Amino acid sequence: MLNPEILYMVVPCYNEEEVLHETAKQLKEKYQSLRERQLISAKSRVVFVNDGSKDKTWQIIQELHQSDPDFFSGINLAHNSGHQNAVLAGLMTVKDICDMAITMDADLQDDINTIDAMVEKYYEGNQVVYGVRSERKTDTFFKRFTAEGFYKFMKVMGADVVYNHADFRLMSKRVLQELANFKEVNLFLRGMVPLIGFQSTSVFYERHERFAGESKYPLKKMLSFAMNGITSFSVKPLKLITSLGFFMTIVSIIAFIWAFISKLIGDTELGWSSTICSIWLIGGLQLLCLGIIGEYIGKIYAEVKQRPRFIVAEFINELGAEFVNKE
Ligand code: UDP
Ligand code: MG
Repeated sequence: MLNPEILYMVVPCYNEEEVLHETAKQLKEKYQSLRERQLISAKSRVVFVNDGSKDKTWQIIQELHQSDPDFFSGINLAHNSGHQNAVLAGLMTVKDICDMAITMDADLQDDINTIDAMVEKYYEGNQVVYGVRSERKTDTFFKRFTAEGFYKFMKVMGADVVYNHADFRLMSKRVLQELANFKEVNLFLRGMVPLIGFQSTSVFYERHERFAGESKYPLKKMLSFAMNGITSFSVKPLKLITSLGFFMTIVSIIAFIWAFISKLIGDTELGWSSTICSIWLIGGLQLLCLGIIGEYIGKIYAEVKQRPRFIVAEFINELGAEFVNKE
């Protein structure tokens, strides 16, 4: 490779004092071998993002920087903002100084040896390289079951996510620039990146056990993450309410006819028909109205997000300059 490009690693860290030294050591070795193979430039770096840790994480990051100022760098967030925000903070900081960036967890669950393949795929012309877990041997049955259910449910609910891919991925500078145009507050990166488009591919890896420490994603956080993924990416739940409303209204009309006939036959208690008819009809109409309101909320929600309406891949000749600032 004639001109090796600059690779930045973005590593979010929340209370990771137990693993940080090991992660730093392994990354350093990996970078050295990548440099020997002329795959990355000498300006490549590792950026740790301290996500409001309560332990010595930030102190360790500072020490790492002092020990090797040209290699380790760090960002300290004002408070715990969550994994997705920490990753974005790192990416937005490096987007102008790198050629490609890889995001990876601090706990060494993502296989560092996959980085080689990611970088090679980048040079083959891919703008996004997804790290995809090939199996879930190291997970408990519960985690496996919930995680796989999550990906399937997300698909059904209309959010396009890469199956078994978390946040271990390589993105080119180009993709990072586009990602900067996504102004939404409720981040769900693994849904956003596929929306950007461009040529992309996957590399497969086996996910390890956490090197040390414990998961910072307890069930409660996991559920709220899944909920956020669905509600940030799809208005399908709102549409379901509308469909339910239609269905209930039709059922109520049938119930109405049935109650009316029962009344004519004289097979009813006094007051029964009018009560039953109003319950069904009102219920159906209410759901239908809620659904219609939901449709509008769905539109408002999409507007408020101010996502870029299109993303230009390239321009022919000088055409570009004129269009670049139009949208
Ligand atoms: N993390 C973070 N902020 C948080 C929670 C987690 O930056 O509020 C980081 C954490 O340090 C780790 C990564 O996000 O590098 C993934 O977290 P974890 O390993 O606990 O999740 P799991 O692998 O169990 O899903
Ligand atoms: Mg982990």
